[in-house]
Amino acid sequence: QQARALVEARIAVIPDFPEPGVQFRDLTPVFADGPAFHALAEALTAPFAGRFDYLAGVEARGFLLAGAASALCGAGLLPVRKAGKLPRAVLTEHYSLEYGTAALEVHEGELPPGSRVLIVDDVLATGGTVGAAARLVERAGWHVAGISVAIELPELGGRARLGDRYEIYSLLQY
Ligand code: 5GP
Repeated sequence: QQARALVEARIAVIPDFPEPGVQFRDLTPVFADGPAFHALAEALTAPFAGRFDYLAGVEARGFLLAGAASALCGAGLLPVRKAGKLPRAVLTEHYSLEYGTAALEVHEGELPPGSRVLIVDDVLATGGTVGAAARLVERAGWHVAGISVAIELPELGGRARLGDRYEIYSLLQY
């Protein structure tokens, strides 16, 4: 597939970032390449065409991907933010990362009840991040249409940990 080749050619691998032992996959060269970024944004929503009403982007790199995909497909965007950033009443989910812990939030009532939400992020590692985003979507009264990421790291077990409750798409696996 063309998107896969365009994106794969631009992914940089940084050893020992942000901690020793972590192989960080850097997508900034993909964002810097117009055709690659466009192809990635299209590829993330294509498998779910006609089956979602909104895209949810997870702060921060998920914002870039979901924002671009949103503009391309015409769906609205739900920002899933790090704790403490949203000004109105929020729902909060805590989760553990490949390195450290964090919390994500959405505004209560941001979308109509029952909205079908496709969750977008850059990397699926342990699944903690998109899992927290999925719990937020469900607690808010919306439906998780699926989870779509640019890169999946299967050795870290995210797909297994999330179980078969969600349809998961990844463009690339390492
Ligand atoms: P998880 O919660 O699935 O363990 O980790 C996924 C989150 O950590 C994503 O939001 C992603 O931004 C970040 N992450 C983990 N590993 C990498 C990596 O190798 N490259 C990038 N760009 N992000 C990573």
